[in-house]
Amino acid sequence: MTKKETKYIFVVGGVISGVGKGITSSSLGLILKNRGLNVTSIKIDPYINVDAGTMNPTEHGEVFVLKDGDETDQDMGNYERFLDINLTRLNYMTTGRVYKSVIEKERNLEYKGKCVEVVPHIPLEVIGRIKEAGKNASADVVVIEVGGTVGEYQNMLFLEAARMLKLENPKNTAFVMVSFLPTPQKIGEMKTKPTQNAVRTLNASGIQPDILIARASSSLDDKRKEKISLFCNVHPSNVISAPDVDSIYDIPINFEKEKLSEKLCEILNIKTKKADDKAWKKWKDFAKHAHNGKEVVKIAMIGKYFETGDFILSDSYLSVIEALKYSSYLQNRKPVMTWLNSTDFEKNPAKLKDLKKYDGIIIPGGFGSRGVEGNLSVIKFARENKIPYFGLCYGMQMIVIEYARNILGLKDANTKEVNPNSKNLVIDVMESQKEILKRNSYGGSMRLGEYKALLREGTIAKESYASSLQGRSLKDFKKGPAFVTERHRHRYEVNPSFIGDLEAKGLVFSGRSPDGHLMEIAELPKSKHPFFLGTQFHPEFLARPLSPHPLFTSFIKACINKKK
Ligand code: GLN
Repeated sequence: MTKKETKYIFVVGGVISGVGKGITSSSLGLILKNRGLNVTSIKIDPYINVDAGTMNPTEHGEVFVLKDGDETDQDMGNYERFLDINLTRLNYMTTGRVYKSVIEKERNLEYKGKCVEVVPHIPLEVIGRIKEAGKNASADVVVIEVGGTVGEYQNMLFLEAARMLKLENPKNTAFVMVSFLPTPQKIGEMKTKPTQNAVRTLNASGIQPDILIARASSSLDDKRKEKISLFCNVHPSNVISAPDVDSIYDIPINFEKEKLSEKLCEILNIKTKKADDKAWKKWKDFAKHAHNGKEVVKIAMIGKYFETGDFILSDSYLSVIEALKYSSYLQNRKPVMTWLNSTDFEKNPAKLKDLKKYDGIIIPGGFGSRGVEGNLSVIKFARENKIPYFGLCYGMQMIVIEYARNILGLKDANTKEVNPNSKNLVIDVMESQKEILKRNSYGGSMRLGEYKALLREGTIAKESYASSLQGRSLKDFKKGPAFVTERHRHRYEVNPSFIGDLEAKGLVFSGRSPDGHLMEIAELPKSKHPFFLGTQFHPEFLARPLSPHPLFTSFIKACINKKK
């Protein structure tokens, strides 16, 4: 492009939720990035919560933490992974966040005495945020995913913002609708009517989709394409068939088979060079792995946030799952994950021995006391039976509790979160947080976002990062102290007064905050256990398809070795 004109693509959903708007938005971003464009992505969540931090994962899925500590929606993780970019709080908004800032501005007299109205002031605030995010990223294209489904009361003001932005920038704004075409079992025919109705509803908001992504269990035939085209007013070549796939990483590839990036560039009048074949090949090679890997690694994931009624919802740990895939694919393996409920090990300890059939065990992040005793028994079992164990955040804190109880003999060792009356609070709040907590300001007491950790020589942690640096230069890493930067989301820390005793008995704190006060990684030396390591941070948030996370890679390697 010659003169910099930012382009905006809104992605909205029709018919039902859960048809992959997030992955569609991520894939659109990727195929445009691949044409040499600078792309950034925005997620709009229509709920009142100011961020996703206060929501239960079974309600909403994973809370994805950005480098600046913003607690956001799991789709932000998809954008970061597909586009290999780092987003900030400017890229995320909710109804609550938008209203909050309008109200704050009103209190600050920023509307200069005007009557502040829902329309236009709320949509204008939304537009302002979209533009700011674009500017901050020097983006050529901003992809904006509007959460929810058209026709919902909740996202109307965001659609109003989209309409107004189009009015202001007619040539630079495009609309993509991701719709669903059901094939009712008894009828056996793919139906277009719900999509027709969804487009009409969107039309009622003054918006006409330029592209229609037709999600369905199978590919669209020409007849269906023509029908949708005629009734929805979309050119047949802009009706894109998006059948179910085994791997989400094939979706950008499928989109390109339908020449989607070319079409978008045409609609938005973007002139680019041809697609970057080298980068594209890397992606295609990566995506192929999902179908290769005949051999599997069997991972047990122990958690509690995956039951919703009779269904299992693995969304709560989405980034962990993806991180496991990247590191497994790298070694030509396919991860097979089994979800085990931690409370089951409390009810029936005999189940522990079943864990032997897995190549590795993961305990991911979590909050509260439910399931903790079950987790502790799993960790003890993994330690004693030399099963590779990787603890993420709470899963690291529990390494410390288990070690204190069973090796140091501190029978009531615990975290303040579970038993504030324990005499041996090996996991505790730090002095500086106590005042904040007294004011009942829970949000303010969390350690969120990026912090540095200094790695200790001769440890699994240091070795892992040194052997696959995940984008960091080896030169920098070798020159001086080995620092890594990782994302955090937790309130409690390893209590400094127990560190001496724990280390004397063999637990190694191989990563610490630069001032040495906060423990970032705990591990057992390789001579004692093939892989027994936990991180206070969440490495899963920085695992990317083309640069898997070093610690996940080491864990998977240990799992493969166990198999042998
Ligand atoms: N509940 C623990 C804490 O707040 C761990 C949090 C987590 O696993 N994300 O410190």
